[in-house]
Order: sequence, then structure tokens, then C-alpha cells
Amino acid sequence: MAHYIAESNAHYYSHRDPLGQAGDFVTAPEISQMFGEIIGLALVSKWLEIAAPCPIAYAELGPGRGTLARDALRVMARAGLKPEVHFVEASPALREVQTGNVSAATWHQDISSLPEGMPLLIVANEFFDALPVRQLALTERGWREVMLAHDNGSLTAITGNQPMDQAIPAHLKNAPTGTLIETSPASHAVMREMAIRLKRSGGMALIFDYGEETPGFGSSVQAIHNHEKIDIFSRPGEADLTAHVNFGALMETARGAGCSARLFTQGDWLKSNGIVERTRQLANAEPSRRSEQVAALERLASPQQMGDLFKCLVLLPDPRIRAE
Ligand code: SAH
Repeated sequence: MAHYIAESNAHYYSHRDPLGQAGDFVTAPEISQMFGEIIGLALVSKWLEIAAPCPIAYAELGPGRGTLARDALRVMARAGLKPEVHFVEASPALREVQTGNVSAATWHQDISSLPEGMPLLIVANEFFDALPVRQLALTERGWREVMLAHDNGSLTAITGNQPMDQAIPAHLKNAPTGTLIETSPASHAVMREMAIRLKRSGGMALIFDYGEETPGFGSSVQAIHNHEKIDIFSRPGEADLTAHVNFGALMETARGAGCSARLFTQGDWLKSNGIVERTRQLANAEPSRRSEQVAALERLASPQQMGDLFKCLVLLPDPRIRAE
């Protein structure tokens, strides 16, 4: 399953821009400039707090079209903050689109080559949900990994033969048959590296995604094509595959690597960082677009829309823990 998600998404993202109405799905920065602006403002306050005249880097993971970065960097520049810009982006097609929105960026294939020796202002929106998950299911024979098989030319999920019981946390040993859990080693690897770097060099990370602090059981893998959910096996490499982010597990990893981790709903985080005031400001500046701005606020922050489903994970170096 994890290989399928990784290969499918690598192909999917490599040769297209899937974002926006004309694409397959719409993300927060594509809904309104306010999303990137509020993030930019939060990064400015972090920078003012650091208060050291040192170089500083803005690092974004999976920047999509570069819209969030463009909006955040504009706000930051207005406050006098002009960081180096580093994009972690695997897709050649999206790197091309990003060039049009942010002129002076350095691109990275993965997080390992981000600059050392300067604080990092890290942002990731809908990045972790695109990383592969492994699935383990409790069968009559014990815990097994979910794998894929060919069935008359189509793909289908089966369980493997290898016993996986020893990889299961103790409290799940007596779960009912049919229980399925997900784990994302790829996400933990990124999270750990990110937290180690924050602890070492200072800065902050803001991670937005949909998921829960304590996820339930069952498969959360879904495929989106042309704004609709489709069968995850029906269009390999041609649909966006995502899984819910297990924030609780990622927070544990971040804490283990020396960071403090706090989780907010996206709605609460955006509101406590000024999105209502920004909506008012934009609406006053351009009254003919007031209803559009209010609708964007609703879409991003109200609990019935993205506000509760999406979370914001804030990572900061924890001064109480020694650096690795
Ligand atoms: N943050 C953007 C785009 C989200 S889509 C927005 O909010 O609009 C996911 C992004 O992550 C895309 O830019 C995709 O190319 C990138 N991506 C997905 N998997 C990746 C990986 N393994 N390594 C690097 N980038 C990846």
C-alpha cells in the first residue's frame, strides 16, 4: 500500500498542476490570499522575537503553485523580513509554476539539504497527507500488512502472509478482528528531521493538514480526481492519493526530537492570528468584494467547512530539552 501511494503520487504530481478549479482539488492558499498572509504575519512575530540580526530562511514543504509563499513573503517583506527562500518540492511541473510566483527560491528534493546555521521558518500545507501510509489489519491469522494484488487486470487490497503482530502497540493486541491501523514512517522521518533542525537552529514550523490528534481505526486513504472521490485503485498515478494525518503520533516524534508541539484547529489558529480583522480590512478596502472575502473566511475557518477538519500544528524548539 505504501509503495502504491508513493509511486502513484510521484507520477501524479510530476507532470501536472492539480490545484484549483480547473484541476483536481482546491487548497487553502488557493481559496484566499488571507491564508498565506496570516501565516506570514505569524512568522514575522516569531522573527521579531528571535530579534537577532542573522540570516533566516523561509522553508516550505510541497509549495504547490507557490501561492502561499508569495502571499506570506509579501507580508513579511512589508515588515522588513526578507528571508532566504527554500522549497522542498519533488515535482518538476510544480517547480516550474512556483518559479512564476516566487522569483528567488532554492529547490530541494527533500528536507535533508535545507540550510544549516540559521533559524528556519517552516511551512507545510497539505504536504504530510500526500506521504505514503502503511496499513496493518487484524485477520483471523493475526496482524498482517495490507498489500495489493492484481485481480483480472485491476488492483485489489489483500493481506500479506508475514506476521506483523510484533509491530503492533500492546494496547491493540486484543482488538477485534478486522481492525485496521495506519502508520506513516515517511511522515515520521520528515517530522523528526524537521524537529532536530528547529531545535538546533531555532525558528518555528506551521503545519496544516487534515487529520486528528487521535485517529480512529480503518483506512483513511482516498483518491480525488476532478474534485470527486473515486476508488483508490481506479486511476493509479492519475488521481491525488491522501491519508489523514495522525497528529498525535507526529507530535510525539517532534517532542522526542526536542521540540514543543501544540495542535490547534485551523479555524482557531487562523482566528487567533487575525483572519477576522484581515477580512474586515480587505472588505473595507474593496466593498464590492465584501461577500467574496466573507465567504473565504467562512470556508477557511468555520467549523462546518475547513475550520475543524484541518489542524495547525505549531512546532517550536523546546528550551527544556538538550539538542541532539
Ligand atoms: N501546499 C500546496 C500544495 C499541496 S499538494 C497548497 O496548499 O496548495 C502537495 C504538494 O506536495 C505538491 O507541491 C507536491 O508536489 C508536493 N509533494 C508531494 N509529495 C512529495 C514528496 N514526497 N516530496 C516532495 N514534495 C512532495
